[in-house]
Amino acid sequence: MDIACSKEELKLFERIGDAAQKMDVQCYLIGGFVRDKLLGRPTKDVDIVCTGDGIALAHNVAKTFVQPPQVNFFKNFGTAQFRLNGLDVEFVGARKESYTSDSRKPQVEPGTIEDDQLRRDFTINALAISLNKEDYGKLIDPFDGTKDLEAKIIRTPLGPDVTFSDDPLRMMRAVRFATQLGFEITEDVFEAIKRNKGRIKIVSQERITDELNKIMAAAKPSVGLDLLFRCGLLKEFFPQFTDLSGVEIIEGKGHKDNFYHTLQVIDNTAAKSNDLWLRWAALLHDIAKPATKRYEDGHGWTFHGHEVVGERMVPKIFKQLKLPQNEHMKYVAKLVLLHLRPISLTKEDITDSAMRRLLFDAGDELEDLMILCESDITSKNKVKVKRYLENFEIVKERLKAVEESDKIRNWQPPISGDEIMQLFNLTPSREVGVLKTAVREAILDGIIQNNYDAAYALLVEKAKELNLTPIAKL
Ligand code: ATP
Ligand code: MG
Repeated sequence: MDIACSKEELKLFERIGDAAQKMDVQCYLIGGFVRDKLLGRPTKDVDIVCTGDGIALAHNVAKTFVQPPQVNFFKNFGTAQFRLNGLDVEFVGARKESYTSDSRKPQVEPGTIEDDQLRRDFTINALAISLNKEDYGKLIDPFDGTKDLEAKIIRTPLGPDVTFSDDPLRMMRAVRFATQLGFEITEDVFEAIKRNKGRIKIVSQERITDELNKIMAAAKPSVGLDLLFRCGLLKEFFPQFTDLSGVEIIEGKGHKDNFYHTLQVIDNTAAKSNDLWLRWAALLHDIAKPATKRYEDGHGWTFHGHEVVGERMVPKIFKQLKLPQNEHMKYVAKLVLLHLRPISLTKEDITDSAMRRLLFDAGDELEDLMILCESDITSKNKVKVKRYLENFEIVKERLKAVEESDKIRNWQPPISGDEIMQLFNLTPSREVGVLKTAVREAILDGIIQNNYDAAYALLVEKAKELNLTPIAKL
């Protein structure tokens, strides 16, 4: 065996080889497992292909264990899978495929190992290692995949137009592997993606977004996002994002290219956090700049309100991309809305109450918001960036000090809405909201102290204006 495997893996391969021999079929390790082992990347997904019934082989291997793992199988696809000590082992019968133009789903018939390798997406994913007695451990590499691994290139076994037209998801996979592995897509493959980009419409959005999220989770997402942009795929399924690109110049004044600015912000964020949703907030933070762009005479380019319009665009984009409509979406929307706030605090003469307001509005998301905002400081001018970052540090220190003294994050005002209703014998109504807001605002602005008595006194004052009298002090 040319690859480094654990004792456990080697024992498993022996069992698989024995079971296949008993069935009189050939079996091989293939795909991502072989690729990642050769690259020295950690991998837990073992892909096995056999020249016969993959489901039967999976069952026969499982049976050899004292405590057989549970085999899950999909008759329609001829695949089976079981988990074994953290390994995810997948079996499939070698197959030959032919495609029609309107579907990703091929017609399938049993084939040889060579047929099977030929239907794989990239040469680096078509490498096989024999688990058969006669040539156990032999690497079968009909398309020079090992050479491509060394040269770090993404190439297709068939002509790339055929590969991509047959299954357009492979275009997304090409970009994803280039991003994850730091590989180059060969020029003819890249040109083929440009030609076939329109075919992506036959792929479900869930599959596209799956690949997009793998790109977003990579160490440097900008690599993949830029490739998607340049080959034209990105515009096919995410035009709001590509609308950020380009620079307009009026009276000699240009604005920055917000697409490339956004890529930089995503990378900056990715360098500080692995959180996928924080990276999505970085992707979407300026999404409403095209919609809010104005040229103001004598002043220059403005994007007033882009954070508010952007917040509203988030649910629509999540729906379109089939991203989850849950707390992750709310989190992203919140960060988009607040993304300018910390930087606005770097100005001079900022009061403690402005700090308190941000602490209150950001709540649990403060740290992530600060990462996003700091990542948003990009400019070609290094001196400018340095000065901004220094001012930003001062804001961080002040936020910390205000939080330590006032404990505003996740703070609840000293009198709740329920208590207000009891105090004034009110049912849920506009008045309750007015009174509640008055207390909260007065405390955040530092007009009254953060305690029950001060809040009560203010409520009584406010209530007079609304012709209400308290019936009880709690
Ligand atoms: P990862 O597990 O990191 O996503 P992988 O290469 O293992 O990468 P899988 O989706 O697990 O990808 O697929 C396993 C193997 O199946 C691939 O290595 C490739 O040989 C083949 N394969 C997967 N998807 C396709 C596809 N759309 N077209 C052709 N071959 C594919
Ligand atoms: Mg895999």
